[in-house]
Amino acid sequence: MKIDWLIVGAGFSGCVLAERIASQLGQTVLIVEQRSHIGGNAYDDYDEHGILIHHYGPHIFHTNAHYIWDYLSQFTQWRIYHHQVLALVEGKPIPIPFNFNSLYQLFPTRYADKLTHQLIQHYGLNTKIPILKILETAPTPDLKFLADYIYQNLFHHYTLKQWGIKPEALSPGVTARVPIHLSRDNRYFQDQYQGLPKLGYTKLFNNLIKHPAIKLLLNTPYQELIGQIDYRHLIFTGPIDEYFSYQFGELPYRSLHFNFIHTPDHQHQPVATLNYPNDYQFTRITEFKHLTGQQMQGSTYVEEYPQTYQPGHNLPYYPIPQEETRELYRKYANLAESLKHQILFAGRLGDYQYYNMDQAVARALTLFKTVICQN
Ligand code: FAD
Ligand code: UDP
Repeated sequence: MKIDWLIVGAGFSGCVLAERIASQLGQTVLIVEQRSHIGGNAYDDYDEHGILIHHYGPHIFHTNAHYIWDYLSQFTQWRIYHHQVLALVEGKPIPIPFNFNSLYQLFPTRYADKLTHQLIQHYGLNTKIPILKILETAPTPDLKFLADYIYQNLFHHYTLKQWGIKPEALSPGVTARVPIHLSRDNRYFQDQYQGLPKLGYTKLFNNLIKHPAIKLLLNTPYQELIGQIDYRHLIFTGPIDEYFSYQFGELPYRSLHFNFIHTPDHQHQPVATLNYPNDYQFTRITEFKHLTGQQMQGSTYVEEYPQTYQPGHNLPYYPIPQEETRELYRKYANLAESLKHQILFAGRLGDYQYYNMDQAVARALTLFKTVICQN
């Protein structure tokens, strides 16, 4: 039997596209997924102690886009949750993104007053300033000192651990994700909508692909199916360089190793995530009960150890945003453009973009509306 759409990958990108095609166009979809589960990197389930964990690192949904929140709300209710992160600096857990609360915890009050005054005078209250910008533009010796301090204690070593690259050698957008915030707001994100699916991400994915016109094949790499499935259109949400057999060279990715630890204690740490910019080989520890609100004895947390990506050994979690990688990606994107009547690419790996979940959903919805519906 001929299917209308073959979609490779059952993450947010693949599942949202499948849902739209089936429910809005009434066409048939087969999703093939190489892992043993749906959800891509947002997959969650219960560990042996009954704690709901995120298998591929902590996932907090946040967006300013009303239409994305509304779209997903058809498939889940939400637990409203505002993420808080502390970073260990000189032995003190300070709020991050760095804000006035962090400043007053680190410096004597009179000096913190002076720095606060200068920050507001030069950048304005409630503004967000990327660390690389403040380093470049700090107009007074005090602010120059502060910028250097924050860079050294929060960004330099963390970024080296996370990417194996210095902050200034990455696209400025990477460290700008966690800007200096001239406010007393300790939340990690300031988006209008924030939370986690009330019954977990996997349940949300199950609901997304419930439509009878959608079929799913797990444990099936696309490569094993080539020539065996009769389909009209193909959407690929895996790595674009892999699809094209690395013909222009391999795109670099960063990988992670996750070390899950269970404790019989009720709580391991005071907030969901503790960042370790300067010590240890892991970057951060996240305790899941803070995210999910689960009430029970015992707790599970995860340490994230950044790693070099080695195909076949670990997974390509992060595209690496740099000028050189953009150039290489462009070659693949141009090739993809020339084949757009046969295949569409989407997602963090298909588009080689450091998407958050809401951005992956936005990209899938836009692709559906502007390309798929127009053909
Ligand atoms: P993926 O989730 O990667 O899905 C792609 C799927 O395709 C995978 O299941 C893969 O197995 C499958 N696939 C690939 N190649 C093939 C093949 N050849 N054959 C068959 N199947 C294939 N975003 C947020 O908004 N908030 C967060 O807090 C957050 N935290 C994160 C933490 C970590 C550690 C990581 C790595 C990411 C985080 N993200 C977060 C980003 C989020 O994971 C992504 O935005 C989202 O998962 C992208 O969905 P996707 O479908 O594009 O890709
Ligand atoms: N970052 C940092 N120190 C921190 C937190 C973040 O240097 O304590 C930098 C680092 O380069 C990181 C980037 O900011 O990769 C983005 O951080 P984010 O928490 O958004 O990363 P993700 O959750 O995507 O891993």
